[in-house]
Amino acid sequence: MDRITMLFPGGKTKAFTLSYDDGAEADRKLAELCRSRKVKCTFNLNSFRLGEEKYLKAEEIRELFAPDMAEVATHGFNHPFLNLIPSHAAFRELLDDRLRLEELTGGIVRGHAYPFGTYNTEVIGILKAAGIAYARTIKSTHDFRLPENWYEWNPTCHHDEPELMELADRFLQLPDFMGPSLFYVWGHSYEFAFKQNWETMERLLERLAGRDDIWFATNMEIHDCVEAFNSLIWSAGCGQVCNPSAREVWFSLGRGMERTVRPLLVRPGETIYTGL
Ligand SMILES: [Zn+2]
Repeated sequence: MDRITMLFPGGKTKAFTLSYDDGAEADRKLAELCRSRKVKCTFNLNSFRLGEEKYLKAEEIRELFAPDMAEVATHGFNHPFLNLIPSHAAFRELLDDRLRLEELTGGIVRGHAYPFGTYNTEVIGILKAAGIAYARTIKSTHDFRLPENWYEWNPTCHHDEPELMELADRFLQLPDFMGPSLFYVWGHSYEFAFKQNWETMERLLERLAGRDDIWFATNMEIHDCVEAFNSLIWSAGCGQVCNPSAREVWFSLGRGMERTVRPLLVRPGETIYTGL
């Protein structure tokens, strides 16, 4: 064995996620579209703006973004440039947003998308102090790699980029032995309403939804899946592995240029023999 590869739940090697910002009223249609296709989306909300004209209402958040189909994440209390305000004000923007969104959803809110996509090293420190686990940028990678830094989580692309469907096809054709691949699309639902191009999202979901080789997850579920894998405790010879987390963890063991994926599962709290 010379390779231990993380797999997504069920031993899958592909995951798909969406991340949509600002909490505009067009989120209602996007949430319904995702729900009908069983595709999960993370919605990044500015809780101060809820209830304003063309924005969602506070009282609809819990039902609209039920945790089985969606994640609610922070986007700053009032959409600030986090890098252009004093640290204490940036911290307050994040914490106030978390507090309000947790009150509205009844859940734990730990995700973030940078308003205007701007950040620096100091902002990342403030995010960590505010209990944020990851933050999404607006830099397209046009690839399917998992992030190396949770606070600089670059998406694959914005939905309006001309390469969208070509990327979808490349993603579907990736062979399993390439390891875990994530197709990550972001945007704003009001862009579909403004440009009257909802068919962009409909076409994308038509291509991907319903496939059983793809794990449809929220941003936070992907973060937690990777972190559970990273928390595995291995014996010195890798013959035993213990899963101290509360999640099922899937991985495969590979040798040389081997092109087959044999998924192994370690259940929560379990220690298994790997055969090595
Ligand atoms: Zn925004």
